[in-house]
Amino acid sequence: MRQRRLFGVLATAVAVITLATACSSSKISSDSTGTSGADGYAMAEAASLPAAIQEIKDRGKLTWGVKFDQPLMGLRNPASGEIEGFDAEMGRLVALRIFGSDDPSKLEFVETISANREQYLNSGKIDMLAATYTISDVRKEIVDFAGPYFEAGQDILTKKDDTSISGLSDLSGKKVCVTVGSNSLTNLQELNPEADISAPLKAYADCALAVRNGTYDALSTDNVILLGYLSNSPDAFRVVGDPFTSEPYGIAFAHGSPELRSFVNETLELARENGDWVKAYAKTIGEADPDVPTQPAVAPY
Ligand code: GLU
Repeated sequence: MRQRRLFGVLATAVAVITLATACSSSKISSDSTGTSGADGYAMAEAASLPAAIQEIKDRGKLTWGVKFDQPLMGLRNPASGEIEGFDAEMGRLVALRIFGSDDPSKLEFVETISANREQYLNSGKIDMLAATYTISDVRKEIVDFAGPYFEAGQDILTKKDDTSISGLSDLSGKKVCVTVGSNSLTNLQELNPEADISAPLKAYADCALAVRNGTYDALSTDNVILLGYLSNSPDAFRVVGDPFTSEPYGIAFAHGSPELRSFVNETLELARENGDWVKAYAKTIGEADPDVPTQPAVAPY
């Protein structure tokens, strides 16, 4: 299972990826013109754009919500100010297809936390987001989704020397850090009501710090998020490695955005066909887990 495999390897070496492993699914014909874009991506400007995307192009900038505190997925590099991670790369690919350019002024990253994703989309503060955001039926009533573009699963992180937690049932009576507005919180409420989640925090970096300093016994959220903290601090943390949910990540839009949804679904399929999804994985999550998974099929609804 891929969720397990995420923790099978904690590599320090740069991943060597075979493109062939990820190019398994159906092809769609390219609608793109032009040449390759940022960071060796093949994604190029679309030959024609639906009106809602043309509006973004005319405005000259795509606004993209992303986490700023989650290594591997969405992290603001304190030295360079660059936003790094797989979720940010999804933004770069969509911007390349809209503008045909990797000019950073065309793509504004806006920090989102778990609790404000829906509000940021529906108020128009951002056009789209990729922020470790699970597609769910409840959320489909509030926002629109493209994807999935990645499959995660909820797991548990503890201090490295804590051997008292080896699964969901061991969280009973433990003080567990989750974040407000996350599926991780509601999943845990349902799957182990004995876990003490009475004091959720705002952001996962706060939770990781709280586990490190012993204020909380554990952090429970998606394995790829936990892998980010683990790979940064392998001497401080351990991850159980037994995911107990399925978390398909979607790129999200304001509710009622059919043109944005299909444009981004097509972009994800192009990224499968031209190898860009694998490239995005290799330079981000692949630094910690070089075992490249198969890109999930998009599931338009
Ligand atoms: N994927 C889960 C969610 O969408 C947890 C991760 C997060 O909060 O960003 O709620």
